[in-house]
Amino acid sequence: MNASLDILPLSSWINTEGKPLVIAGPCSAETEEQMLETATQIKEEGFAHVIRAGVWKPRTRPGSFEGMGEAALPWLQVVKQQTGLPVAVEVATPQHIELALKYGVDILWVGARTTVNPFNVQELADALKGIDVPVLVKNPVNPDLQLWVGALERLNQAGVKKLGAIHRGFSNAQEHKFRNSPMWNIAIELKTIFPQLPVIGDPSHMAGKRAYLYEIAQRALDLHYDGLIIESHRDPDKAWSDAAQQLTPAALGQMLHDLHVRKESY
Ligand code: PEP
Ligand code: MN
Repeated sequence: MNASLDILPLSSWINTEGKPLVIAGPCSAETEEQMLETATQIKEEGFAHVIRAGVWKPRTRPGSFEGMGEAALPWLQVVKQQTGLPVAVEVATPQHIELALKYGVDILWVGARTTVNPFNVQELADALKGIDVPVLVKNPVNPDLQLWVGALERLNQAGVKKLGAIHRGFSNAQEHKFRNSPMWNIAIELKTIFPQLPVIGDPSHMAGKRAYLYEIAQRALDLHYDGLIIESHRDPDKAWSDAAQQLTPAALGQMLHDLHVRKESY
């Protein structure tokens, strides 16, 4: 396949002191207090480089919590101010991009249900023209490497040079141990096509259950991934979305401590 990306190295837009990038935070921003308490605990644990939070939530079926929307963005400004850490948010429309940037969001990510749609991705790419913000692209929900590649190319052609991929696994037709099958070979192939592209593992959305996070995170590190994005909530069982897969900041700190980072690869 003939493909290349004109991108900047991860180290040029975030300083991780040579360690894998760690993005942590709740699946969803629920209240200002939940956001601030979770982020403060994450900061105190000392492992995270970026705080994540879902503001617009792409729920598979209507009727569940769809995110707090714009109302949550000022909370993230407070989080930034109090922790000194940059914040990352999922965007699915040009309006999300405009609002996120208006409130100072530092890093954007494209969700798995958006990457599947080239029209949707192109709209985001057009909205990002001339804007210097890092964008991470989750794999599409279905195991189609070309859609993932195409989304990265569309954004890059629009001038997004601070670009990375998030491997969050692929949805299963049948019941499976993991909520989303990792299908590691697809991400490995992406890395073969774009050797300089940072790839970040998302054990939370692959595992679906906190018991499986460790093994998936370790596998990602063994494959020399550039980082991890993991959901963390001050009170995981009470989370308004993805309760079963979130960890307290303290439990996440312990898990990251226990993971074996093969330093020679970094
Ligand atoms: C999320 O990160 O909370 C999320 C909705 O992820 P995905 O797009 O991978 O389902
Ligand atoms: Mn989630």
